[in-house]
Amino acid sequence: MLKNRRAKLERFFSSYGLDAILFTSTHNIRYLCGFSGSEGALLLTREAGWFLCDSRYTTQAFAEVEGVDIRQFTVKLDAVADLIEEMNFSRIGFEAARTTVADFRLLSAKLSNSELVAIEGEVDQIRSCKDSDELDQLQEVASLASNSLLAVLPLLKTGVSELDFARELEFEMRRRGAEGRAFDFIVASGERGAMPHGRASEKLILSGELVTIDFGAVRHGYYSDETVTVAVGQPNDRCREIYGIVKEAHDRAIAAVRPGITCRELDTIAREFIRECGYGDFFGHGLGHGVGLEIHEKPVVSPRSETIVEKGMVFTIEPGIYIPGFGGVRIEDTVVVTSNGCYSLTQVSKELMIL
Ligand code: ZN
Ligand code: ZN
Repeated sequence: MLKNRRAKLERFFSSYGLDAILFTSTHNIRYLCGFSGSEGALLLTREAGWFLCDSRYTTQAFAEVEGVDIRQFTVKLDAVADLIEEMNFSRIGFEAARTTVADFRLLSAKLSNSELVAIEGEVDQIRSCKDSDELDQLQEVASLASNSLLAVLPLLKTGVSELDFARELEFEMRRRGAEGRAFDFIVASGERGAMPHGRASEKLILSGELVTIDFGAVRHGYYSDETVTVAVGQPNDRCREIYGIVKEAHDRAIAAVRPGITCRELDTIAREFIRECGYGDFFGHGLGHGVGLEIHEKPVVSPRSETIVEKGMVFTIEPGIYIPGFGGVRIEDTVVVTSNGCYSLTQVSKELMIL
Protein backbone atom coordinates (compact mmCIF):
# COMPACT_ATOMS: atom_id res chain seq x y z
CA MET A 1 0.00 0.00 0.00
CA LEU A 2 2.71 2.49 0.98
CA LYS A 3 4.64 1.48 -2.12
CA ASN A 4 1.69 2.57 -4.25
CA ARG A 5 1.59 5.86 -2.39
CA ARG A 6 5.30 6.48 -2.98
CA ALA A 7 4.85 5.64 -6.67
CA LYS A 8 2.71 8.80 -6.91
CA LEU A 9 5.92 10.81 -6.43
CA GLU A 10 7.30 9.73 -9.81
CA ARG A 11 5.94 12.79 -11.59
CA PHE A 12 7.89 15.05 -9.23
CA PHE A 13 11.12 13.08 -9.66
CA SER A 14 10.82 13.33 -13.43
CA SER A 15 9.40 16.84 -13.90
CA TYR A 16 11.83 18.47 -11.45
CA GLY A 17 14.77 16.15 -12.25
CA LEU A 18 15.23 15.16 -8.61
CA ASP A 19 17.43 12.58 -6.91
CA ALA A 20 15.44 12.68 -3.70
CA ILE A 21 12.52 14.43 -2.02
CA LEU A 22 12.61 15.62 1.57
CA PHE A 23 9.40 15.59 3.63
CA THR A 24 9.14 17.32 6.98
CA SER A 25 5.35 17.76 7.28
CA THR A 26 3.89 15.20 9.64
CA HIS A 27 0.86 14.42 7.46
CA ASN A 28 2.88 13.62 4.35
CA ILE A 29 5.35 11.63 6.46
CA ARG A 30 2.52 9.58 7.95
CA TYR A 31 0.99 9.02 4.53
CA LEU A 32 4.25 7.90 2.93
CA CYS A 33 5.90 5.80 5.66
CA GLY A 34 3.36 5.23 8.43
CA PHE A 35 5.01 7.21 11.25
CA SER A 36 2.34 8.93 13.35
CA GLY A 37 4.55 11.04 15.66
CA SER A 38 4.84 14.80 15.57
CA GLU A 39 8.47 15.31 14.54
CA GLY A 40 10.79 13.78 11.97
CA ALA A 41 12.08 13.92 8.41
CA LEU A 42 11.64 11.55 5.50
CA LEU A 43 14.01 11.45 2.55
CA LEU A 44 12.83 9.37 -0.41
CA THR A 45 14.43 8.43 -3.70
CA ARG A 46 12.66 6.41 -6.37
CA GLU A 47 14.01 3.20 -4.85
CA ALA A 48 15.01 3.86 -1.25
CA GLY A 49 14.20 5.97 1.74
CA TRP A 50 15.28 7.07 5.22
CA PHE A 51 13.14 8.16 8.12
CA LEU A 52 14.98 10.30 10.65
CA CYS A 53 13.73 10.93 14.17
CA ASP A 54 15.02 11.91 17.58
CA SER A 55 15.35 9.55 20.53
CA ARG A 56 11.80 10.23 21.78
CA TYR A 57 10.44 8.48 18.70
CA THR A 58 12.89 5.70 17.85
CA THR A 59 10.86 2.88 19.40
CA GLN A 60 7.68 4.18 17.82
CA ALA A 61 9.38 4.50 14.45
CA PHE A 62 10.55 0.88 14.50
CA ALA A 63 6.97 -0.18 15.27
CA GLU A 64 5.26 1.97 12.64
CA VAL A 65 7.55 2.81 9.75
CA GLU A 66 7.41 0.65 6.64
CA GLY A 67 9.81 0.22 3.74
CA VAL A 68 12.53 2.73 4.63
CA ASP A 69 15.62 2.77 6.87
CA ILE A 70 15.37 4.44 10.26
CA ARG A 71 18.03 6.75 11.64
CA GLN A 72 18.16 8.61 14.92
CA PHE A 73 19.35 12.20 15.03
CA THR A 74 20.39 14.77 17.60
CA VAL A 75 19.90 17.81 15.34
CA LYS A 76 17.44 17.18 12.52
CA LEU A 77 18.78 19.38 9.75
CA ASP A 78 22.38 18.32 10.48
CA ALA A 79 21.35 14.70 10.05
CA VAL A 80 19.43 15.47 6.86
CA ALA A 81 22.42 17.35 5.41
CA ASP A 82 24.83 14.55 6.38
CA LEU A 83 22.62 11.95 4.70
CA ILE A 84 22.32 14.01 1.50
CA GLU A 85 26.12 14.45 1.35
CA GLU A 86 26.73 10.78 2.15
CA MET A 87 24.45 9.70 -0.72
CA ASN A 88 25.82 12.35 -3.11
CA PHE A 89 22.37 13.57 -4.09
CA SER A 90 22.57 16.72 -6.17
CA ARG A 91 18.94 17.83 -6.54
CA ILE A 92 16.60 17.48 -3.58
CA GLY A 93 12.96 18.50 -3.74
CA PHE A 94 11.29 19.91 -0.63
CA GLU A 95 7.75 20.89 0.41
CA ALA A 96 7.87 24.64 -0.21
CA ALA A 97 4.46 25.28 1.34
CA ARG A 98 5.42 23.41 4.51
CA THR A 99 8.99 24.59 5.08
CA THR A 100 9.93 27.70 7.03
CA VAL A 101 12.29 30.21 5.46
CA ALA A 102 14.59 29.69 8.45
CA ASP A 103 14.82 25.91 7.89
CA PHE A 104 15.34 26.40 4.16
CA ARG A 105 18.22 28.82 4.78
CA LEU A 106 19.78 26.62 7.44
CA LEU A 107 19.69 23.50 5.29
CA SER A 108 20.89 25.35 2.18
CA ALA A 109 23.89 26.65 4.13
CA LYS A 110 24.84 23.13 5.20
CA LEU A 111 24.74 21.72 1.65
CA SER A 112 27.77 22.57 -0.45
CA ASN A 113 27.31 20.22 -3.39
CA SER A 114 23.56 19.98 -3.74
CA GLU A 115 20.60 22.14 -4.59
CA LEU A 116 17.24 22.37 -2.86
CA VAL A 117 14.34 22.50 -5.33
CA ALA A 118 10.98 23.91 -4.21
CA ILE A 119 7.97 21.73 -4.92
CA GLU A 120 4.92 23.91 -4.36
CA GLY A 121 1.66 22.89 -2.65
CA GLU A 122 0.99 20.46 -5.49
CA VAL A 123 2.95 17.76 -3.63
CA ASP A 124 0.03 17.48 -1.21
CA GLN A 125 -2.12 16.38 -4.16
CA ILE A 126 -0.66 12.88 -3.82
CA ARG A 127 -3.13 12.49 -0.92
CA SER A 128 -6.23 13.65 -2.89
CA CYS A 129 -7.33 10.20 -4.08
CA LYS A 130 -7.76 7.85 -1.15
CA ASP A 131 -6.87 4.15 -1.22
CA SER A 132 -9.07 1.45 0.27
CA ASP A 133 -7.35 1.53 3.68
CA GLU A 134 -7.95 5.25 3.90
CA LEU A 135 -11.58 4.97 2.81
CA ASP A 136 -12.14 2.41 5.59
CA GLN A 137 -10.63 4.80 8.14
CA LEU A 138 -12.61 7.76 6.82
CA GLN A 139 -15.88 5.81 6.89
CA GLU A 140 -15.22 4.66 10.42
CA VAL A 141 -14.53 8.12 11.79
CA ALA A 142 -17.41 9.72 9.87
CA SER A 143 -19.87 7.13 11.20
CA LEU A 144 -18.52 7.57 14.71
CA ALA A 145 -19.08 11.33 14.54
CA SER A 146 -22.54 11.11 12.94
CA ASN A 147 -23.71 8.55 15.48
CA SER A 148 -22.32 10.65 18.33
CA LEU A 149 -24.33 13.65 17.15
CA LEU A 150 -27.52 11.59 16.87
CA ALA A 151 -26.93 10.25 20.39
CA VAL A 152 -26.66 13.71 21.98
CA LEU A 153 -29.16 15.60 19.80
CA PRO A 154 -31.97 15.08 22.36
CA LEU A 155 -29.92 17.30 24.72
CA LEU A 156 -30.22 20.26 22.33
CA LYS A 157 -33.10 22.15 23.91
CA THR A 158 -34.27 25.65 24.71
CA GLY A 159 -32.15 27.00 27.57
CA VAL A 160 -29.07 24.86 26.90
CA SER A 161 -25.88 26.76 26.04
CA GLU A 162 -24.06 26.18 22.78
CA LEU A 163 -20.90 25.30 24.71
CA ASP A 164 -22.63 22.75 26.92
CA PHE A 165 -23.96 21.01 23.87
CA ALA A 166 -20.52 21.10 22.19
CA ARG A 167 -18.95 19.52 25.27
CA GLU A 168 -21.54 16.73 25.34
CA LEU A 169 -20.86 16.01 21.69
CA GLU A 170 -17.10 15.85 22.18
CA PHE A 171 -17.46 13.58 25.19
CA GLU A 172 -19.74 11.25 23.25
CA MET A 173 -17.21 11.04 20.42
CA ARG A 174 -14.39 10.22 22.81
CA ARG A 175 -16.52 7.61 24.54
CA ARG A 176 -17.06 5.97 21.15
CA GLY A 177 -13.32 5.82 20.44
CA ALA A 178 -12.35 9.16 18.90
CA GLU A 179 -8.81 10.43 19.60
CA GLY A 180 -10.28 13.90 19.79
CA ARG A 181 -12.39 16.48 18.03
CA ALA A 182 -11.44 17.49 14.51
CA PHE A 183 -11.66 21.22 15.37
CA ASP A 184 -13.43 23.52 17.82
CA PHE A 185 -17.06 22.70 17.06
CA ILE A 186 -19.24 25.37 15.57
CA VAL A 187 -22.55 25.59 17.40
CA ALA A 188 -24.16 28.81 16.19
CA SER A 189 -27.76 29.51 17.17
CA GLY A 190 -30.14 32.27 16.12
CA GLU A 191 -28.36 35.41 14.90
CA ARG A 192 -24.97 33.79 15.60
CA GLY A 193 -25.74 31.48 12.67
CA ALA A 194 -24.74 34.38 10.42
CA MET A 195 -21.09 33.66 11.35
CA PRO A 196 -19.89 30.77 9.18
CA HIS A 197 -17.28 29.96 11.84
CA GLY A 198 -19.21 30.88 14.98
CA ARG A 199 -17.56 28.71 17.61
CA ALA A 200 -19.80 27.44 20.40
CA SER A 201 -20.36 30.20 22.97
CA GLU A 202 -22.12 30.68 26.31
CA LYS A 203 -25.26 31.78 24.46
CA LEU A 204 -28.41 29.91 25.44
CA ILE A 205 -30.53 28.39 22.71
CA LEU A 206 -33.97 29.97 22.32
CA SER A 207 -37.17 28.49 20.98
CA GLY A 208 -37.68 28.90 17.24
CA GLU A 209 -33.96 29.29 16.49
CA LEU A 210 -31.96 27.48 13.87
CA VAL A 211 -28.75 25.95 15.24
CA THR A 212 -25.83 25.23 12.90
CA ILE A 213 -23.61 22.45 14.23
CA ASP A 214 -20.34 21.85 12.36
CA PHE A 215 -18.50 18.93 13.91
CA GLY A 216 -15.99 16.18 13.29
CA ALA A 217 -13.87 13.56 15.01
CA VAL A 218 -10.33 12.25 14.58
CA ARG A 219 -9.49 8.56 14.72
CA HIS A 220 -6.26 6.86 13.65
CA GLY A 221 -5.18 10.24 12.26
CA TYR A 222 -8.17 10.56 9.92
CA TYR A 223 -10.74 13.35 10.15
CA SER A 224 -14.46 13.67 9.61
CA ASP A 225 -16.41 16.83 8.75
CA GLU A 226 -20.19 17.32 8.75
CA THR A 227 -22.61 20.16 9.37
CA VAL A 228 -26.27 19.93 10.29
CA THR A 229 -28.59 22.85 10.86
CA VAL A 230 -31.56 21.95 13.06
CA ALA A 231 -34.50 23.93 14.40
CA VAL A 232 -35.21 24.01 18.13
CA GLY A 233 -38.94 24.66 18.22
CA GLN A 234 -40.92 25.75 15.13
CA PRO A 235 -38.79 27.90 12.79
CA ASN A 236 -40.38 30.88 10.99
CA ASP A 237 -41.08 30.96 7.25
CA ARG A 238 -37.85 32.75 6.37
CA CYS A 239 -35.78 30.16 8.21
CA ARG A 240 -37.62 27.41 6.36
CA GLU A 241 -37.13 29.17 3.02
CA ILE A 242 -33.38 29.58 3.56
CA TYR A 243 -33.02 26.00 4.74
CA GLY A 244 -34.82 24.76 1.61
CA ILE A 245 -32.52 26.76 -0.68
CA VAL A 246 -29.31 25.55 0.99
CA LYS A 247 -30.57 21.97 0.98
CA GLU A 248 -31.39 22.14 -2.73
CA ALA A 249 -27.96 23.69 -3.52
CA HIS A 250 -26.31 20.88 -1.50
CA ASP A 251 -28.38 18.18 -3.25
CA ARG A 252 -27.72 19.56 -6.73
CA ALA A 253 -23.97 19.73 -6.18
CA ILE A 254 -23.84 16.20 -4.76
CA ALA A 255 -25.90 14.88 -7.69
CA ALA A 256 -23.32 16.40 -10.09
CA VAL A 257 -20.22 14.86 -8.47
CA ARG A 258 -18.50 12.43 -10.85
CA PRO A 259 -15.06 11.93 -12.35
CA GLY A 260 -14.27 14.50 -15.06
CA ILE A 261 -16.21 17.49 -13.73
CA THR A 262 -14.06 20.30 -12.34
CA CYS A 263 -14.25 21.46 -8.74
CA ARG A 264 -15.11 24.94 -10.05
CA GLU A 265 -18.12 23.54 -11.92
CA LEU A 266 -19.40 21.87 -8.76
CA ASP A 267 -19.05 25.15 -6.89
CA THR A 268 -20.92 26.95 -9.66
CA ILE A 269 -23.88 24.57 -9.53
CA ALA A 270 -24.54 25.37 -5.86
CA ARG A 271 -23.58 29.05 -6.09
CA GLU A 272 -25.72 29.79 -9.14
CA PHE A 273 -28.77 28.19 -7.54
CA ILE A 274 -28.35 30.28 -4.38
CA ARG A 275 -27.88 33.38 -6.53
CA GLU A 276 -31.02 32.67 -8.59
CA CYS A 277 -32.94 32.44 -5.31
CA GLY A 278 -31.77 35.95 -4.41
CA TYR A 279 -29.18 35.06 -1.76
CA GLY A 280 -26.02 35.27 -3.84
CA ASP A 281 -24.52 37.93 -1.57
CA PHE A 282 -24.83 35.69 1.46
CA PHE A 283 -22.70 32.70 0.39
CA GLY A 284 -19.11 33.92 0.63
CA HIS A 285 -16.96 30.82 1.12
CA GLY A 286 -16.00 28.01 -1.25
CA LEU A 287 -18.27 24.99 -1.65
CA GLY A 288 -15.93 22.45 -0.07
CA HIS A 289 -12.51 20.99 0.64
CA GLY A 290 -10.73 17.65 0.77
CA VAL A 291 -10.73 15.70 4.05
CA GLY A 292 -8.26 13.02 5.10
CA LEU A 293 -5.21 13.17 7.36
CA GLU A 294 -6.02 16.88 7.67
CA ILE A 295 -9.38 18.57 8.12
CA HIS A 296 -8.67 20.82 5.14
CA GLU A 297 -6.61 19.28 2.35
CA LYS A 298 -6.64 18.94 -1.43
CA PRO A 299 -8.75 19.25 -3.49
CA VAL A 300 -10.13 22.73 -2.95
CA VAL A 301 -13.73 23.03 -4.22
CA SER A 302 -14.06 26.75 -4.96
CA PRO A 303 -14.80 29.18 -7.82
CA ARG A 304 -11.06 29.24 -8.57
CA SER A 305 -10.32 25.52 -8.51
CA GLU A 306 -9.66 23.96 -11.90
CA THR A 307 -8.90 20.58 -10.29
CA ILE A 308 -10.58 17.75 -12.16
CA VAL A 309 -12.58 15.41 -9.94
CA GLU A 310 -11.20 11.85 -9.86
CA LYS A 311 -12.42 8.55 -8.50
CA GLY A 312 -11.32 8.10 -4.88
CA MET A 313 -11.28 11.79 -4.01
CA VAL A 314 -12.93 12.67 -0.70
CA PHE A 315 -14.27 16.20 -0.20
CA THR A 316 -17.03 18.14 1.44
CA ILE A 317 -20.03 19.80 -0.14
CA GLU A 318 -21.08 22.59 2.22
CA PRO A 319 -23.14 25.46 0.82
CA GLY A 320 -24.51 28.04 3.24
CA ILE A 321 -26.46 31.27 3.50
CA TYR A 322 -25.43 33.73 6.24
CA ILE A 323 -27.51 36.85 6.81
CA PRO A 324 -26.09 39.40 9.28
CA GLY A 325 -28.59 40.27 11.97
CA PHE A 326 -30.79 37.32 11.08
CA GLY A 327 -28.92 34.04 11.15
CA GLY A 328 -27.79 31.33 8.80
CA VAL A 329 -27.87 27.78 7.50
CA ARG A 330 -25.06 25.48 6.36
CA ILE A 331 -25.45 21.87 5.30
CA GLU A 332 -22.32 19.76 4.87
CA ASP A 333 -21.61 16.20 3.86
CA THR A 334 -18.29 14.54 3.06
CA VAL A 335 -18.47 12.46 -0.12
CA VAL A 336 -16.32 9.84 -1.84
CA VAL A 337 -16.11 9.97 -5.64
CA THR A 338 -16.93 6.64 -7.34
CA SER A 339 -16.57 5.71 -11.03
CA ASN A 340 -19.91 7.34 -11.91
CA GLY A 341 -21.00 9.50 -8.97
CA CYS A 342 -20.40 9.65 -5.25
CA TYR A 343 -21.62 8.43 -1.88
CA SER A 344 -21.64 10.14 1.47
CA LEU A 345 -19.42 9.12 4.38
CA THR A 346 -21.35 11.37 6.76
CA GLN A 347 -24.62 9.91 7.91
CA VAL A 348 -26.99 12.38 9.54
CA SER A 349 -30.12 13.07 7.45
CA LYS A 350 -30.15 16.54 5.94
CA GLU A 351 -33.95 16.89 5.95
CA LEU A 352 -34.87 19.75 8.29
CA MET A 353 -35.09 18.36 11.82
CA ILE A 354 -37.34 20.20 14.25
CA LEU A 355 -36.42 19.29 17.80
ZN1 ZN B 1 -17.36 21.33 8.70
ZN1 ZN C 1 -15.84 21.55 6.01
